[in-house]
Amino acid sequence: MAAQIHGDDRTELERAWRLSVQVAFSQAGMVSEHDAWRDCQSPDSIRSYVVCPTDPAHYAKAVRYTCHLRVCPDCARRHSARLVMRYLPAMDVIVSTGNSAYRARHIVLTTAVSLRDPDVSDKLREAYSAVGKLFDRLLGRGWQSRGMGYVVAAEFGENGLRLHFHIVFYGAWIDKKALSREWEALTGFCVTYVRGINKCRFTLRQALGEVLKYATKLGQVPPGLVPVLVDALRGKRRIRSRGVFYNMPSVEPPEQTCPQCGAPLDLWTAFRYDVWAYQEPEAPRFPGWYEQSELDWTGGNKPTGPPVAASPALGDPGQNGVWGLAEGDAGEELL
Ligand SMILES: [Zn+2]
Ligand SMILES: [Zn+2]
Repeated sequence: MAAQIHGDDRTELERAWRLSVQVAFSQAGMVSEHDAWRDCQSPDSIRSYVVCPTDPAHYAKAVRYTCHLRVCPDCARRHSARLVMRYLPAMDVIVSTGNSAYRARHIVLTTAVSLRDPDVSDKLREAYSAVGKLFDRLLGRGWQSRGMGYVVAAEFGENGLRLHFHIVFYGAWIDKKALSREWEALTGFCVTYVRGINKCRFTLRQALGEVLKYATKLGQVPPGLVPVLVDALRGKRRIRSRGVFYNMPSVEPPEQTCPQCGAPLDLWTAFRYDVWAYQEPEAPRFPGWYEQSELDWTGGNKPTGPPVAASPALGDPGQNGVWGLAEGDAGEELL
């Protein structure tokens, strides 16, 4: 039996890093984060099964507990993939049917803000605000109503130390020199990077992936700074959108069906599956029934209670009313 139990597909290096992070959560007194982190994708934490309701021998996959912490590389990677899948179609339509003079671009804005700074949370808030002001200065008032927009995500790179922003911008031409000049005037940092997005070499999907890809860099954050990152992100949306990308329609994934009989798959509690397995000792087990299922489809064990009221710390509503995504709209899904 034990041979059937699959691990979490993490490398030794990832496991060692996760263990150090777990210790750091413990040392920081962050009990709930510690417990969620420890249990994330553990084979011992099965909550439910995705099964074929006609016959679980047709199809059954375990749904493991996932921590949904924004600093968890596994959860963040899954969440990013889901965001790309949901919002890319709408972005594609916007970019391919918009003003012919507009272009999509990938912009990176750097800062010297470090997770080691004692006031990193405030600095992160100020930097987000500066990104909004930057576009307002470059494009002029009311630019959001002219069919332009952007999606921005904050990221601490280079060993978790330097805050920078990845942006997919769609709109009028922006002069790189002017961009750097304004960014320096607002923040004191002048290093910026602009790359064109087109259908061949660097696609919108790749650019959006870059913006949402934080997962790949989380493992570089020194374990002791992960609790600091959790604190810095608390009450803030890491990914924000403005203009035409604000409140985009999302695409729901298609319903999953049983590969054998075509019935729509169902979500069973672990108890219900265990009762079935107990009652049907002779029934063949679906191969890999203990492997992790498509958590994206089931939403993992995401709480399904009423939406939590938006924190007043979210975004900068004073800026122009669209910064920071309102509860219940597309922004709710953003990290
Ligand atoms: Zn996780
Ligand atoms: Zn079936």
